[in-house]
Amino acid sequence: MAKTDVKAPVTKTASENGKARTALKPEITVAEKLVELFRLQHVDSQVDRIKVQRGELPLEVQDLEDEVAGLETRLKKLQDELGEVEGQVSDRQNMIKEAKAQIKKYEAQQAKVRNNREYDSLTKEIEFQNLEIQLAEKRIKEAKAQIDGKKAVVDESKHKYDERQKDLEVKKKELDDIIAETEKEEKELQKKSSAASKHIEERLLSAYNRIRSNSRNGLAVVPVERGSCGGCFNSIPPQRQLDISSHKKIIVCEHCGRILVDDYVLERVMSEK
Ligand SMILES: [Zn+2]
Repeated sequence: MAKTDVKAPVTKTASENGKARTALKPEITVAEKLVELFRLQHVDSQVDRIKVQRGELPLEVQDLEDEVAGLETRLKKLQDELGEVEGQVSDRQNMIKEAKAQIKKYEAQQAKVRNNREYDSLTKEIEFQNLEIQLAEKRIKEAKAQIDGKKAVVDESKHKYDERQKDLEVKKKELDDIIAETEKEEKELQKKSSAASKHIEERLLSAYNRIRSNSRNGLAVVPVERGSCGGCFNSIPPQRQLDISSHKKIIVCEHCGRILVDDYVLERVMSEK
């Protein structure tokens, strides 16, 4: 333990001096390897968070777009139906006008007829037109009641459509903002990630990638937290905890296989800007 504590500040200086120093001294301590691994993990976890954050918004926007399109279709159908009934009303109103004109014409003819037969025939025509007018008026009354009902439904649909359309605009804006904002951040993190992985030897890097891809939360390197694995939360035996903090070799969790780091490594990485 004491040995590690002494070593720590020395290795820190070495890493701070950067590449030139690494080139001069190719042997890297286990503590340093762990710091590099956890640094990579820390960056990759931030990328994961961005992806999760952005991952749900496009779906929400898509759902809203579908809903708005559905409401639009429904609204259009209702408006068409309303227009059709309104058309029926004006058709019947025209019919009434025509019937009234016909009646006037027949009445004028009646004044000129010479015999009863012609007169009666015109009377029958007039009666018939009057019946037509009554029927049309009845149908208009029915249609007007339908129109009132349909108008209420159209208004309601229009209101819902407008509301959803507004929600969609808000969500879309949110998504655009997040994409614009996170794209830059993500690119920077990706650069950091590849820079961090360059320091790690091939064998360790492929182990890291393998463990990371097998875990649902993308964690391959985890700190020991209150005596437990920070990945699967199973407790770690005291001797193993001592081995982890002695930095003599890389130690994985016996339950989940994740690489374990102690507070020293955690603090080293977390204190970097
Ligand atoms: Zn574990």
